[in-house]
Amino acid sequence: MGEQPSLFGPDLGTFHQKPPEIGFQRLRVLITVKAAPNPSATYGETVCIAAIRLDIGHAGWIRLYPINFRELDSDRQFRKYDVVTLEAKPAANDPRAESWRPRADSFVVERHLDGWPKRMAYLDDYIETSMCDLVSAVRQRPAARSLAAIRPRKILSLEIERHPGWTAAEQRKIDQYVRQLGLFESAPRTALQAPRFKAWYRYRCHAPHCNTHRQGIYDWELAALQRSVDRRDDAGVEQAVREKYWDLMCASDRDTIFYVGNQQAHPQSFIVLGVVYPRRLMPRRPGGTALEPLPAPGHGDNAVRPPRNT
Ligand SMILES: [Zn+2]
Repeated sequence: MGEQPSLFGPDLGTFHQKPPEIGFQRLRVLITVKAAPNPSATYGETVCIAAIRLDIGHAGWIRLYPINFRELDSDRQFRKYDVVTLEAKPAANDPRAESWRPRADSFVVERHLDGWPKRMAYLDDYIETSMCDLVSAVRQRPAARSLAAIRPRKILSLEIERHPGWTAAEQRKIDQYVRQLGLFESAPRTALQAPRFKAWYRYRCHAPHCNTHRQGIYDWELAALQRSVDRRDDAGVEQAVREKYWDLMCASDRDTIFYVGNQQAHPQSFIVLGVVYPRRLMPRRPGGTALEPLPAPGHGDNAVRPPRNT
């Protein structure tokens, strides 16, 4: 990609083998993704977390699944961009090298990274520009890399449609979970509600012959946002989604980047797990002291990457 190799950054082009069967290990990670909750018969609502490993010699993406947010003690709850230590082992039932199974009671939050500049210092080495390459890699080898951060060339649209509700199979899992009462639970379990709307991004990546990507958004924040405006009518909820996921996150003054991941059952279909949207840094003009705006790049056009640290 013509970028300078980083001394300590990840080698994203390397084929990572599934690690051999090993027991639980202590890992240190930066949480970057909290995906939308999924129905599960055993866990109620399971959440997939994606993170960047901070352990020396083991840089790279990691997926932590399953995580049940309802059952995490409140002092063990963690947020995106927390630096966390935890115990996990490679997921035996998932061929993707990034997938690990965490121990729910092992999470310890070390600190939180406030604001995009601190976060970008960790993320910069992980940002890629070709979604097409990721898709063609999993076509050739289904266990190819399954997590990435993609800076699109141009974001074409945000499409919002009514959520059809859980499938019959999903609803059965929810009912099964709600009927059980955990050993230490005093209150009845509540059912996981489907959000009112689903949403997709359509974009073009930087690959020369990119034929556009349409990817569903499975971000915890999308479901949480809809819950927070639940009293509004449909048009009001849709408007709230558009204001955040288009007007804010894809604004022309934002350097929009998508966290993407695939699903174990459908390795070729990647979904958007979260959005990174720091303000574009503005280049300093020679002789000038003030920061001046970039030439207007057009809505959501990420072709221009301004230099950092200027
Ligand atoms: Zn593409």
